[in-house]
Amino acid sequence: MATTLEELATLAAPCTLCPLAEGRTQVVFGVGNPHADLLFVGEAPGRDEDLLGEPFVGRSGQLLDKLVLEEMGLTRRDFYIANVLKCRPPNNRDPLPAEIAACRPYLEQQIDLIEPKVVVTLGNFAAKLLLDTTVGITKLRGQVYPYGPGVLVPTFHPAAVLRGGGVPMAQMRADLVRAKEALEAAPEGALPAGNPT
Ligand code: URA
Repeated sequence: MATTLEELATLAAPCTLCPLAEGRTQVVFGVGNPHADLLFVGEAPGRDEDLLGEPFVGRSGQLLDKLVLEEMGLTRRDFYIANVLKCRPPNNRDPLPAEIAACRPYLEQQIDLIEPKVVVTLGNFAAKLLLDTTVGITKLRGQVYPYGPGVLVPTFHPAAVLRGGGVPMAQMRADLVRAKEALEAAPEGALPAGNPT
């Protein structure tokens, strides 16, 4: 069992738990502040991410960065970002249930190691997996859900916002404001045992 994100990334790099291993350039593990209070979880790497090894570096990522900066005042140094699947599905098709099941332990360990106060899921796949529901994102979004010791804020995938325009864009902005408020409301982490200050 890995005790740091770095160790976990090293374990994940040669992964062959599902057939996506055959078509990938590299495992796209995740990036950002390993002690962040805020974690974004997307769907799966696309072409750009597969080539560069980092989540959300294409058009969706540019929109995400813009909206997070405008609504939350945060940049990538302030949060961590990962996906449900760590390898690119062919032609960017939807993740298959068996792929999600095979990859799930990596995301679960990432969440355990980061211990975020707020998880923002982007799109259907991350919300359904982490909330353990079959309810779709259009119904789920707009609310804050208890999640472990913190909360989960589901919102649209930025690719859906790029396709959908003004209405989903405004809804995603509102969800990001919800996430910001949840971060501000979260209690400070407990002091390490033995620390007298
Ligand atoms: N879409 C995702 O869900 N994740 C990425 O990393 C890129 C695009």
